[in-house]
Amino acid sequence: MRPGGRAAAAFAAEHGRAPDSVWSAPGRVNLIGEHTDYNDGFVLPFALPHRTAAAVGRRTDGVLAVATLGEDGVPRRAEPVRIADLAPGGVSGWAAYPAGVAWALRGEGVPLTGADVMLASDVPTGAGLSSSHALECAVALALLDLAGLTPDSEGSPSRDEVARWVQRAENDFVGAPTGLLDQTASLRCASEHVLFLDVRSGHGEQVPFDAARDELAVLVIDTRASHSLSESGYGDRRRGCERAAELLGVPALRDVGVEELPAATDRLPEELRPLVRHVVTENERVLATVAALRAGRLAEVGPLLTASHTSLRDDYRVSCEELDVAVEAALNTGALGARMTGGGFGGSAIALVSTSKLDAVEHAVTEAYAARGFTAPRLFTAVPSAGAGRED
Ligand code: ADP
Ligand code: MG
Repeated sequence: MRPGGRAAAAFAAEHGRAPDSVWSAPGRVNLIGEHTDYNDGFVLPFALPHRTAAAVGRRTDGVLAVATLGEDGVPRRAEPVRIADLAPGGVSGWAAYPAGVAWALRGEGVPLTGADVMLASDVPTGAGLSSSHALECAVALALLDLAGLTPDSEGSPSRDEVARWVQRAENDFVGAPTGLLDQTASLRCASEHVLFLDVRSGHGEQVPFDAARDELAVLVIDTRASHSLSESGYGDRRRGCERAAELLGVPALRDVGVEELPAATDRLPEELRPLVRHVVTENERVLATVAALRAGRLAEVGPLLTASHTSLRDDYRVSCEELDVAVEAALNTGALGARMTGGGFGGSAIALVSTSKLDAVEHAVTEAYAARGFTAPRLFTAVPSAGAGRED
């Protein structure tokens, strides 16, 4: 059963009544444009078919009671909390994500009278596929619905506003300093398209992406590696970019053109140069990818993905052995291109592969992992799927 159906059934079993509504939101992969979102740049994500569903029922006592279905089908219950008492640092573990959303909505003046929430998901967690944002976006839409608000309809917040509220939940309540890419992708992506998003303006364009038409597929490789560097590494890179922009006298690295790159890097201390090089060239690669997709030349995207990986590995230095081995094995077996996706230091990689070579690439990656004694990777192909919405 899909997460929406599982969440509704578990809600009914738990509370002895049907939920008022069920909302779900997808995980995502970013085709290209990594570590550009917090530099006001360009990203190009698409929604995964994997989703997190939130079945909700109204309460009138101001309490938020959340449970999540484990893989064994048994609900794990978070300690119920009074929404009025929520404050950053007050909730820890997985329950901080839904509580953070309620806290952020409360801060925006959304009237919340309390809610029972049952979550069910098939988004792999901690795999760089944004299970945290799938959860937060589903919970945000479900709680808004209880308050009589439906994003993008009259008198309701826009999906972009909801994305910013979800960002506040994750940044200020959970304490993860993430950008705007993941929530926006989960809320705004559409099936059969990648979302070309200009993070500065918020302008998003749906670009058709149909790999199957060219007998290609996007293979997602969940390395199942997670390195402790991931949080500190992200914050360090982010601060490095902010410092570089300050030294260059621009609002964000988005404002450095690729033609200005040599002169700009000359003005910076040695350690900041590769960061700037990555961000500036990565924005260019997003634009080149969009141009190739619009021209129907999907195969040209391959080398851009690989160039992105090289830049993330050598300049931005956020890759790791597991990601490099996956990318290398895919490329050696004939993938048109491959790169790490997401923040790095573990998580997932993607490869653009002709369907005739899929089996060989999957086999090569699995073998390469076994040969090095890594945990076996999880592999699946993904087509751009629907963004967040109501289930029933
Ligand atoms: P990612 O977002 O890449 O999957 P994160 O570390 O940002 O990785 O988020 C993963 C965390 O989000 C999990 O460890 C858990 O705390 C929380 N989470 C995600 N999905 C669920 C879920 N369905 N139920 C409960 N908690 C979840
Ligand atoms: Mg996350």
